[in-house]
Amino acid sequence: MRSRKGIAVAAIVGFVAFLMPIAISLRLAWKQGIEDQKREGMRYASEVLRRCNETSFQFERAIRLLNNDHFAHCSPQEIDLMRQIDVGSSYIQMVGRISGNTLECTSLGTTKPMDMGKPTLMTVTGTAERINVSLGPNQLDRLDLVDQHGVAVLVDSSLVVDIPKEGDDVELAVFVPSTPNRERLGAVGSNFRPKWFEPAAKGAVTSYIDGDSVVSQARSGPYDYAAISVIPSRYAYHYVRQFALIFIPVGLSCGLLLGWAVLYISRARSSIPALVRAAARNQEFSVEYQPIVEMATRRLVGAEALVRWKRGGTWISPANFIPLAEESGVITQITDSVIRMVARDLPKLLEADTGFRVSINLSPADLAASATEEKLKELLRRSGAEPRNLVVEATESGFLQGSDTRAVIAGIRRQGIHVAIDDFGTGYSSLACLQTLEIDVMKIDKAFVETIGTDGPTSQVVQHIIEIGHSMNMMMAAEGVETEAQAGYLHSRGVQFGQGWLFGRPMSVDALRRKLDEQNADAMAAQLTA
Ligand code: C2E
Ligand code: CA
Ligand code: CA
Repeated sequence: MRSRKGIAVAAIVGFVAFLMPIAISLRLAWKQGIEDQKREGMRYASEVLRRCNETSFQFERAIRLLNNDHFAHCSPQEIDLMRQIDVGSSYIQMVGRISGNTLECTSLGTTKPMDMGKPTLMTVTGTAERINVSLGPNQLDRLDLVDQHGVAVLVDSSLVVDIPKEGDDVELAVFVPSTPNRERLGAVGSNFRPKWFEPAAKGAVTSYIDGDSVVSQARSGPYDYAAISVIPSRYAYHYVRQFALIFIPVGLSCGLLLGWAVLYISRARSSIPALVRAAARNQEFSVEYQPIVEMATRRLVGAEALVRWKRGGTWISPANFIPLAEESGVITQITDSVIRMVARDLPKLLEADTGFRVSINLSPADLAASATEEKLKELLRRSGAEPRNLVVEATESGFLQGSDTRAVIAGIRRQGIHVAIDDFGTGYSSLACLQTLEIDVMKIDKAFVETIGTDGPTSQVVQHIIEIGHSMNMMMAAEGVETEAQAGYLHSRGVQFGQGWLFGRPMSVDALRRKLDEQNADAMAAQLTA
């Protein structure tokens, strides 16, 4: 059940890990693509506008030259000059003289006045424009006639919008912003929407997305026209495709790697119960004993049994496997192993000191099981120890489980075994709650002992914890004592017992027995010399 859930979680995480980078990179690619299309669109519009400006410069030059020529209007000399201007102006197809609506003569050689009709529009800069005029069957057809100051030119507006483009469905147009219906002077394409012809600010180049189109506009500052370009936004897919080619493999590898990692971890977690059972069977567990001393005399009076697991040559820290074992319910098998080993070792220690105490750690699951009481009784019977030789340690969370737990703890204490609260101060329970518990010994966590002598914000806490211990009439044992300064502080405030590297690291039962023997020998020697 656990592993199936683990595999499902792995699959989901892997899938998300696979999709996320792809989705993010495609989204980025899409944004990048759109930005590029905007830039491209503004480039198109600017190029069209540049051609419009060039046309205007050529027109202005024609006006300047013709109106300063001192030739008689439409004289052969002036028509000659018109021809020169015409040939030298790339965007101008014809130059002529106009008066009102009458075209009087042109660079094409016509000298017969022609009525051109009313202008289609007047720009705010004063040019009159006639769109799609015809100068007769053989003449240039369907061009725009533009005039100002008596000079007319014929321009081919398709030239200004005839620029190289990315694709055929890019649309371009030139329009006159000052006219109410945004008169168009030239365009390629026919799918324009009216709102695209809303004029931008003078001199501005803008771009935006409208539906599935990237719309860009470049508006002239001095002249009365603006150019727009419209690019289908699907052109951005090009980028998405390029990105996809890179990122899909990357996303795929990330996803596979993550999925594999999750699967691996969930497998490892789900196999903990099997591993622990096998370890118990194969006797991979052992115990070490860490000395506990009486602060006043530094006499070795007890030890805490700490489980050790050597698996395939490497030691696994209990801080790593105990929580997993508790979670998966196999902790009671570890406890059983420890109880068996303590039962085996106790006689060796009691031989040296009949009053010696060994502490055993019990997990919340042990405290909730009524069988635990019986197991401890069995331990005492097999080892020939007295109840006073045994202490059980449990954390706050172990104590606060419910009525079953209270009954088990009460049963243990009734046997005469002492109960200690481990890691005191690190849990979340209220003091009022702790006061109702039946506890003989408080173990002050090493996190608090560490702060002694420092001026960190928590350094005052250890003082309060000791006061609580006194007020509740508990014996106190400080864990993690590493320095003489810590030991001195704790002793001076009435903490009776100490455990930590200052007094001894966890060691084998034989090493502990040797320590007891040395202690006895010293005591004997002291008695003899007294
Ligand atoms: P704990 O019960 O608080 O045990 C004390 C831990 O502090 C031990 O780590 C011990 O080696 C370490 N220690 C002792 N003195 C010092 C010191 O001066 N300085 C420092 N830095 N560390 C010190 P260990 O053996 O790694 O055990 C870790 C935890 O694993 C224990 O914390 C206990 O919660 C759990 N554990 C160990 N053995 C058992 C067991 O047999 N049953 C259960 N249920 N839990 C166990
Ligand atoms: Ca402990
Ligand atoms: Ca502890």
